[in-house]
Amino acid sequence: MQIKSPDFKKNARIALQDVGLQKALGNLKAGFPVKRSIAVDRMPEFEDLRDEARDLKNHILGNLDIYLEQFESKVIENGGHVHWCRTAEDAQKKILEICQEVDAKTVTKGKSMVSEEINLNEYLEANGVQPIETDLGEYILQLREDHPSHIIAPAIHLNLEDVSEAFHKHHKRPKSDDPAVLMQEAREMLRKKFVAADVGITGANFCVAETGSTIIVTNEGNGDLTQTLPKTHIVVTSIEKVVPTLEDMTLFLRLLARSATGQEFTVYNTLSTGPRREGDQDGPENFHVVLVDNGRSEMVGTEFQDMLRCIRCSACMNHCPVYGSVGGHAYGWVYPGPMGSVLTPQMIGIEKGGNLPNASTFCGKCESVCPVRIPLPKLMRHWRENEFEKHLTPSAARYGLAGWAFFAKRPTMYRMLSKTSNWFLRTMAGKKGKISKLPLAGGWTDFRDMPAPSGKTFMQQWKEGQR
Ligand code: SF4
Repeated sequence: MQIKSPDFKKNARIALQDVGLQKALGNLKAGFPVKRSIAVDRMPEFEDLRDEARDLKNHILGNLDIYLEQFESKVIENGGHVHWCRTAEDAQKKILEICQEVDAKTVTKGKSMVSEEINLNEYLEANGVQPIETDLGEYILQLREDHPSHIIAPAIHLNLEDVSEAFHKHHKRPKSDDPAVLMQEAREMLRKKFVAADVGITGANFCVAETGSTIIVTNEGNGDLTQTLPKTHIVVTSIEKVVPTLEDMTLFLRLLARSATGQEFTVYNTLSTGPRREGDQDGPENFHVVLVDNGRSEMVGTEFQDMLRCIRCSACMNHCPVYGSVGGHAYGWVYPGPMGSVLTPQMIGIEKGGNLPNASTFCGKCESVCPVRIPLPKLMRHWRENEFEKHLTPSAARYGLAGWAFFAKRPTMYRMLSKTSNWFLRTMAGKKGKISKLPLAGGWTDFRDMPAPSGKTFMQQWKEGQR
């Protein structure tokens, strides 16, 4: 996917004024977090499972080469093919090559964030292969020439009227705002596409080393039709998705469904183990797995390795106050929210993605809900340090920090400055107790009043033994 605009601040300003988006985001706040909380309360062992999942992922990442090679040999044993792709471009080319080998004109696609990451749709289209998204949210976005704003609910930024408008325009049917009618319309349109497709492309939530299987979890069943009807099935996924055994996979499935949508289990959990065998009633004749690296192996052994534990559940963004206010498009690339703020700079470079690790209040909610206990605020802090070391931080912030450091190293001056600032801010606030304009703090006061300091400084209170 092309970077639409890496300028988070600009995007966020636009998003905050978008009435339709704000309405849609209101539904998110009342939906996933509440459902997750109910599901977690119903499972007393949930916290223990999180520890187990974290430890297992750490073990996998420490032995990634072994499990990936085991997975590869099992896929081959089952009659499939594995293609190792270091970059997004390598993956694009390999997928196109497979499509061209079978003379494919159209491909159906299940939802895959890795395919977004490698900008697959645009690449296939530019080379004469028509991709058709079959996940309902992705289908709507494709009609609107739009991109996902959430990793499991890609069209969450849209309202019913937007969907109705898109269907009316593209399906040439009477306009309806009845969700059941719209659903039926999409079903009818997509059925024909499923049957006519030459190739089906899906992602994979996990790749199982002991059996050479891939698994997709969906709530619509579109993934099953995508991978069983066409003669060729291509799985495009990334290297950190490998798990040792089927039993290990079930641990992650239990956490994934509850953390993502608050379900005890996702409706469709579909395994693919090689191409169709003799006696099978359905399934593809050709089975390919495209394993994408795209910067991930460089994270192994670094301070960012923990990020590779991510199982793409979306809990961090569902609970993030920043994501909840501006939505996913403000992040400017494929992965939004706290997980995107860590992953995106790795993939597009801190020079382009530097705004993202700064788009956080560090409230810590993301880490507290992450099923694999990724320390997201700590990782964002690492990126901020990285940015600072590379002299990418804006000069106002650098000089501000240098000024603060100067005073912080001189306690007497620091206390005097604190007292003077306290007095100054209280005077500015006057009887209202709020400041509506403050030099050098326009980012705050442009959008809300800043409360005046409530009384004595921390050091004064400390001295007086009030704390
Ligand atoms: S970082 Fe954690 S909470 Fe966020 S999507 Fe990944 S696994 Fe889920």
